[in-house]
Amino acid sequence: MRKIKQVKKLIIHHSAANASRSSLKEILRWHEYRGLAEEGFTAYHWYITTDGRIIANRPEQYQGAHTYGYNQDSLGIILPGDFRWQIPTSHQIESLINLLVDKIKQYNLKFWQIYGHCEMKRLFVLSTTSTACPGNNLYKLLSDIRREVAKKSGQWENSKPTLRKVYERIKIMLRR
Ligand SMILES: [Zn+2]
Repeated sequence: MRKIKQVKKLIIHHSAANASRSSLKEILRWHEYRGLAEEGFTAYHWYITTDGRIIANRPEQYQGAHTYGYNQDSLGIILPGDFRWQIPTSHQIESLINLLVDKIKQYNLKFWQIYGHCEMKRLFVLSTTSTACPGNNLYKLLSDIRREVAKKSGQWENSKPTLRKVYERIKIMLRR
């Protein structure tokens, strides 16, 4: 497995299948079939069960295989469920927020470095793939989740979007 030099993004996914049919074991089987698994790990770093247990999978120092073009500097977090039609459990959301706060602190990130998979379109390369991941019902919650993470990690007071900050943010995005 390749190493991650520096974690710069936290990317959220759903399994696009019923939670009862997308256990880690099941996902590992899909990923093995699709060539995304490595050394017995799924493509993701973290898995959050419907009852809110946070389970580590691929070790964080290694690149995952969850977001085409962005695996070199991101951690992948998967919530089992198909959030195109279903709704994540409150346990999942609560645990997701806690995990994100931990990672934000650990890697010295800003709350807006949290993304849904569907937001990671390549900036300058015409991409033919598009994705509904993490499903609209979870995607709709993302701005609230980011705000909650910002509050819990002490970033909210300083997050007024001044023009200077917007420019800084664009610069960082372009540096990807
Ligand atoms: Zn995804």
